Amino acid sequence: MEIMKDETVLLKNYINGKWVASQSNERLAVENPATGNVIANVPVSTKEDVNQAVLAAKQAFTSWKNTPVPKRARILFKYHHLLSENHEILAKLIVQENGKSYKEAYGEVQRGIECVEFASGAPTHMMGESLSGIAEEMDSEMFKYPLGVIGGITPFNFPMMVPLWMFPLAIVCGNTFVLKPSERTPLLANRIVELFTEAGAPEGVLNIVHGTRHVVNGLLMHEDIKAISFVGSQPVAKYVYEKAASQGKRVQALSGAKNHHTVMPDADINRAVQHILSSTFGSAGQRCMACSAVVVIGENERFVESLKKKADELIIGNGMDDEVLLTPVIRRSHREKVLNYIKKGLEEGAMLLRDGRKEMQEMKEGNFLGATIFDHVKPDMTIAKEEIFAPVLSVLRADNLDEALSFIRKSKYGNGATIYTKDARAIRQFREEADAGMLGINVGVPATMAFFPFSGWKDSFYGDLHVNGKDGVNFYTRKKMITSRFDF
Ligand code: NAD
Repeated sequence: MEIMKDETVLLKNYINGKWVASQSNERLAVENPATGNVIANVPVSTKEDVNQAVLAAKQAFTSWKNTPVPKRARILFKYHHLLSENHEILAKLIVQENGKSYKEAYGEVQRGIECVEFASGAPTHMMGESLSGIAEEMDSEMFKYPLGVIGGITPFNFPMMVPLWMFPLAIVCGNTFVLKPSERTPLLANRIVELFTEAGAPEGVLNIVHGTRHVVNGLLMHEDIKAISFVGSQPVAKYVYEKAASQGKRVQALSGAKNHHTVMPDADINRAVQHILSSTFGSAGQRCMACSAVVVIGENERFVESLKKKADELIIGNGMDDEVLLTPVIRRSHREKVLNYIKKGLEEGAMLLRDGRKEMQEMKEGNFLGATIFDHVKPDMTIAKEEIFAPVLSVLRADNLDEALSFIRKSKYGNGATIYTKDARAIRQFREEADAGMLGINVGVPATMAFFPFSGWKDSFYGDLHVNGKDGVNFYTRKKMITSRFDF
């Protein structure tokens, strides 16, 4: 069931504990990618809206930073409870504005809840270190403190999980937060902020400003924003990193990906195919950990045939329908870009093993594209190098693992990589030499859990400290050292 909103419904920003209208008259339609129906409008907020939110967050920081850590953590316990209670409705909202399947959306809510679980351990995470006796009658202690106001900028593809990578941990560490969600998936953001308030967060601690690049630039340039957490496409991530760093801010900017899955000759073909199909075509390939390139070692035609056969069997449709795996891409404009990549693949000489444009023509509504697979792709072809972010897979052929690893090294991205094999020596070589930050051994989506860093490499990440885990805590805190003498 679609939660239709009147087309004139215009979302509001959330500033200092109140829903307030943006000062801008400009708005964008929020569409359901499976139907094309407009479900809301989102304001393209201005720099003035950002200034208001940052001011509210700055004022809230003065008391929030002094709120005892266990008390801050207790709000997260309550938040955990509320998110769990609302698990299904949150998942439905994700399906409606993002288009992914209900099963994927349900899993995403779970991943978000796990971030809150991790953040609830703040009294432990915030502990410092001490050494009694650094010299005679002298001790040293280290305490962790929050930074101030943090800006969070998030993408459309994980409207729940990505904001929850950021604000629960930032806030429990004593910071206050201004969130700029994707303008393509703003409804869920409003709901998770409402629930945070219901959990007991004081006014001004978490604020939302909807919009596009004006809001982003407002955050990047604001002197009271002390750190920026960004997740999105590579060109924007690089821009955000450079701009924020030039303003003296801490930045973590998670970026695009091209994840290679290597299929060794001894791999269990059925299981490898199953993992690769779900990694490649789940969420319509719009996951930063999606498989987008398969490297087949040796003459493994049985694997390629099975991949094609099983791709033919994938059920495509609205994410609310049971059994559907392949859902629409986010916008028609994005599908146009993907179609250009398919043309480019053909022009550059790749072999189109399965053409998903057939399903696209059959489905009049929504932004659907069938599973598309290119074979005999070379590493220097455009479709092998660039992130397409859609249900389009490139199959590359390699003689051996060394050659497969050279393809991975050649990629400018380094988010994830997977190997399918039972061979311990191959696994070890892959672990040591694969040039990516999150590896899977017989795992289709090796995304890390909230207590570990989400640790892309190369152009998949700009910054030093990753989101989640101890990295996340260190990103959102600064250290103070106390050196004491007791002999006077
Ligand atoms: P996007 O870059 O279009 O948008 C991300 C955010 O940046 C949005 O809030 C958007 O409003 C803002 N933005 C867009 N253009 C801007 C500009 N010119 N100036 C300033 N701000 C701008 O990304 P998207 O399409 O929403 O998300 C998909 C991308 O995110 C993919 O590339 C995917 O790989 C990446 N992603 C990466 C990770 C990771 O962990 N590395 C996780 C999720 C998504």
